[in-house]
Parts: sequence; C-alpha cells; structure tokens
Amino acid sequence: MAGLVRLSSRIRSLPHAGGAAISSLPRASSSHLLLRYQQLQIPSSFSSPSTPLQLVPSIAQKSTFSSSARANCPRKMTEQSKELRKYLQQSHDKIFESNRKWAEEQRAKNPEFFEKLSAGQSPDYLWIGCSDSRIPAEAITGLGPGEMFIHRNIANLVCNLDLNVMSVVNYAVRHLKVKHIVVCGHYGCGGVKAAMAPQDLGLLNPWLRNIRDVYRLHEKELDALEGDSRYDRLVELNVVEQCRNIIKTAAVQQSYEANEFPIVHGWVFGLNDGLLKDLKVDHEAILHDVQKIYNLTK
Ligand SMILES: [Zn+2]
Repeated sequence: MAGLVRLSSRIRSLPHAGGAAISSLPRASSSHLLLRYQQLQIPSSFSSPSTPLQLVPSIAQKSTFSSSARANCPRKMTEQSKELRKYLQQSHDKIFESNRKWAEEQRAKNPEFFEKLSAGQSPDYLWIGCSDSRIPAEAITGLGPGEMFIHRNIANLVCNLDLNVMSVVNYAVRHLKVKHIVVCGHYGCGGVKAAMAPQDLGLLNPWLRNIRDVYRLHEKELDALEGDSRYDRLVELNVVEQCRNIIKTAAVQQSYEANEFPIVHGWVFGLNDGLLKDLKVDHEAILHDVQKIYNLTK
C-alpha cells in the first residue's frame, strides 16, 4: 500500500501544471485513485473552464490514505495498483516512442536537421505563456525548434521579483537578441479564474495576487461587465499589464533604444476556435508612458 500512496503522489505530479488539470488532481484514496486514473484518459475532463477554480485548493490537500482503508480491501487495492502501474508505465513509454518517431521524421525530411540544431539558437521570438497544457506555443504559431524561446507559468505573469522570468527576459533580449516578445494569455485561464474568487488559496495567494492587482487597477471597467465577459476581459487586461511589466525592464528599454527591438505584443488564445487574438498593445505608447517613472536607459 505504501507503493500506492507513492503512486498517488506521482500521479499528482504528472505534467499538467496550470489551468484545469493542475486543479483537478485528486484527494488520494483507493477508489479516488482509480477513478482519477480513469479520468486521466479522458482529455475532455481537462478542458472544462469551470473546473479549475473550485478545485485549486486540492493542490494543497494531503493523502488521506488511512491504514483502516488499506486493511479493508487488500485484494482490490492490489488490482488497482497493478492497473495504475501499467497506466503509468504506458504513459511514460509512449513519450519515448513518439520521440523516436519524431527524430526519424526530422532526419527523413532534412538530413542536416540535428546538425543545425546543435550549432546554436537564434530565435526571433520570446514567448511568455500560461503553463496550461492546452496551448502548445510552437504548434499554434507554426514555428519549429530554434525559432521561439519559451517561458511559461500559471497565468503568464511577468513579476518583477520572479528571477526565473526576469532571467529569461534578460537572456532573450541581451544575448539572443529576440525581435519580438509575446505575452500570450488564453480565455478560460484557470489561474485568472482562481484570482477572481476572493478566497484563501494557500501557496497560490502571492502568485494570484498579481492578477488581483490587475483587477484592482481596472476595477471600474471590470465591474461594469458580468459573467464570462468580465472573466475574458480580465484575461486580456492581465496580458496587457504583463506587457507593461516587460517594457519596464532595463533590458527591453535599452535594447529598444539601441536597436528598435524587441517589440512587445499581447495576444490571447481562444480554446474554442484555436485562434490568436492580437490585443494590439502599443509598445511605443506604453514605453513613453512608463518611462516617466521607470526610465532605465540612463
Ligand atoms: Zn492559463
């Protein structure tokens, strides 16, 4: 049974960070584990925009796998354990199978593909998107390996004290010399929805605080909207504010002054139609606006 507890924690660490999946992970009990395992095979269970908010607290929930529950049905548990282990092995192995096929296809299309890939990178784009598993940045933009530098986190935030995203922006601008920086949010974002609920979400509080601050900045506009319109607009405003945060950085301001790039863009991906919406963020206007206080070019 200790193995099942271990497996339950492994299932919770499967790669579904951000959005619906991260929030729908289970409170572990024997029956819940198998149920969750079955649900894991139904991708549509991740796509409901209504699930993330209510279930976000489950991230912090600990295993409730009690010794009495284990003693009650040892045989059933063993079968479940075997089934679960089989699923975990298969879901692991299929990645390597796909990877081998992908590598073969690339070689078949272009024998020099990996030689070029090994030589270095010079991407034109930096993409800052949500960790949500439903937005594959390269696939939806038609770009391939080497063409886009990518950073993703829950709700595509650019926080001043986040050394991760700040390192990415600095490296992409100063060393890779990207020409475009894209902040891409998406409608139906679980992180944004969670931030709209005034409640304690534990470890997520400081992260979601950034989105709640966006709401506060645009309170009047958002309060005039209702339901999904308000939710969608907060997704858009969050993207615009993250663009503003990027334009506040020294790396972007200095590069733009010297080279006239990178240009910062705000986009939103629609899960319903697969299309990107350009919010037409005015890089020049925002730069002019923020430099009164945040000018870091001197
Ligand atoms: Zn999201």
